[in-house]
Amino acid sequence: MAKDRTSIATLSDKDVLKCAQTQGIPMIGFLSPDPLVDAGKRLLQREAMGKTEFEKVAVRDRINFCKAFEQVQTIIVFGVPYGGTPPPFNEKGRGRIAEIAWGRDYHRVLQEKAKSFMEQLVQQFGPMVYRIFVDNARLVDRESAYEAGLGFFGKNNLLIHPDYGSFFNIGQILVDRKIDFKKKKPMASRCGTCERCVRACPHKALGEGFCLEPTRCISYLTQKKSLNPSEEKRIQTYLYGCDICQYACPFNAKVRKPSVEDLRYIAPKLKGFIQMTDENFKRTYGHTAMGWRGFKIIKRNALLLIKKHSTGA
Ligand code: SF4
Ligand code: SF4
Repeated sequence: MAKDRTSIATLSDKDVLKCAQTQGIPMIGFLSPDPLVDAGKRLLQREAMGKTEFEKVAVRDRINFCKAFEQVQTIIVFGVPYGGTPPPFNEKGRGRIAEIAWGRDYHRVLQEKAKSFMEQLVQQFGPMVYRIFVDNARLVDRESAYEAGLGFFGKNNLLIHPDYGSFFNIGQILVDRKIDFKKKKPMASRCGTCERCVRACPHKALGEGFCLEPTRCISYLTQKKSLNPSEEKRIQTYLYGCDICQYACPFNAKVRKPSVEDLRYIAPKLKGFIQMTDENFKRTYGHTAMGWRGFKIIKRNALLLIKKHSTGA
């Protein structure tokens, strides 16, 4: 039974970690609610490379946890690996979907995991008020995870964990309770002289100083509402997202992933794909991270891929 606030036990990082592991959350870090000043500088630097249409909240608000939840005392940052290993298949006439959209929408998966994890914590350690954020424009999950020691920034602009690589999703739980934790130092980059991702990127989206130019990035372009003619040409084999720079990274090579068999979620046949109705699309892909973008934009991507295959452009 949940304890009342007069008999609240002290909560430590070890207690939280133990509970998270039982809920299938292997990566956990902690932050105090001070604004992430260094992250703010990095975000402004990245904005100078070009803003995406998803970044609408001002940087000063995105790095301030109190703006998202006034009573916050501690932030629990968590990571959950995603993706899988598909069977070998012929890519001809197919459009690739990035691994982030292969299973159930990660927003839902992480929200559900965080909710049952917090219910268990409350059960064991007494009442807490909390807010769960997963890839929400209000906060910057990747920056929080970096500051909490969950990985280093790679030259591919992603957060990389030495054991889990870069294929993991991040969420944050803002809790109105002090948790005893030892602040971890952010990890220094382990890229060294490697530049595989920079060389692998088809449109040179990755630049000096761990920067990414959004309008050169296939992943962003497959989600962007309208494309100019040069952006249209940059969409290559991907229907949604892009994993090319992650596949090039040696930190992902050693990560073992579960098998995924259903090619509808990995690389559907383009000709059949464009015949779908809105209803069919919702039924087949509505539960995935690609579903939120809607059929209109994904069908546009499919038509661009068909055009590219037919002209060889
Ligand atoms: S996601 Fe694709 S296009 Fe974007 S930086 Fe990586 S390789 Fe380049
Ligand atoms: S491919 Fe190399 S440079 Fe790029 S993120 Fe991975 S380790 Fe760093």
